[in-house]
Amino acid sequence: MRKIGFIGLGIMGKPMAQNLVKAGYELTVFDILSERMDDLVRAGARRGASGKDVAAQSEVVITMLPNSPHVREAVLGPGGVLEGAKPGTILVDMSSIAPLASQEIAAQAREKGVAMLDAPVSGGEPKAIAGTLAIMVGGPQETFDQVKDILAKMGSSVTRVGEIGSGNVTKLANQIIVALNIAAMSEALVLATKAGVNPEKVFQAIRGGLAGSAVLDAKAPLALKGNFKPGFRIELHIKDMANALDTAHELGVPVPLSGVVMQILQALRTDGKAGNDHSGIIEFYEQLAKVQVRG
Ligand code: NAD
Repeated sequence: MRKIGFIGLGIMGKPMAQNLVKAGYELTVFDILSERMDDLVRAGARRGASGKDVAAQSEVVITMLPNSPHVREAVLGPGGVLEGAKPGTILVDMSSIAPLASQEIAAQAREKGVAMLDAPVSGGEPKAIAGTLAIMVGGPQETFDQVKDILAKMGSSVTRVGEIGSGNVTKLANQIIVALNIAAMSEALVLATKAGVNPEKVFQAIRGGLAGSAVLDAKAPLALKGNFKPGFRIELHIKDMANALDTAHELGVPVPLSGVVMQILQALRTDGKAGNDHSGIIEFYEQLAKVQVRG
């Protein structure tokens, strides 16, 4: 399959689509903000007029959109993917959305002969640019087998975890772990600063030990510089935590720490910081303790 449609060219979608162009696939792209398509068109992609138009030109359609309502609109809405898709087209939604929404959209796609995978990613913008994302996939094995070479151009690990929706369940697990890690890091670095110990030195001293992690390595340097340019916006993490809490409630699973982190994220949003990188969780702790970690 060589003809790929790509819908949603934001922080993540743009570099992911660029990697597919570099790999030699024929891309048709679309974003509701038309200037977001310019760089891709310069790189050799065709400018799509709508989701319908993209699907009509493509064997595989990839979506990389903020949340469930955007994916519903782009796929099921007027001028959307299902209006243009032929039976046999494969839809790969790489957005992080509610698992139940993935299952509902897949059911409607199936009625049109379109097979769907949910394939959210982890790794953020740097790994999207490098083509080294972790990709977690739900959906039929035979559909996965047809597109896994395409996914491998965007990620260094591509893992099928189960049926449709299970990619997004895995992503929720990922997002709980990331949010709680950033909160723990923030709590610890603010404590160290208040105690008069240089937080940069604390980071360097502990990063090779048991407390070290990919999250610590990626986010501590940003927090220590007070550089909260996204990256991964707080508002997107609120969206993921809302999906995690909803899913937990549906299943009757207590997730107490996720509940606390959600309150921290909400406080930051109220403070006008929804557009900051989620490493900005540290600002919540800095305000409470009346101290700043940045030197
Ligand atoms: P973004 O807001 O930067 O990009 C989303 C793009 O979708 C925008 O360009 C927007 O104009 C476009 N869009 C919205 N509705 C549309 C529609 N109906 N039709 C066509 N285009 C539409 O978001 P992002 O940071 O690229 O994130 C995309 C997804 O990836 C989210 O689900 C996010 O949670 C997930 N994610 C993001 C990161 C990260 O670090 N940014 C990391 C992992 C996963």
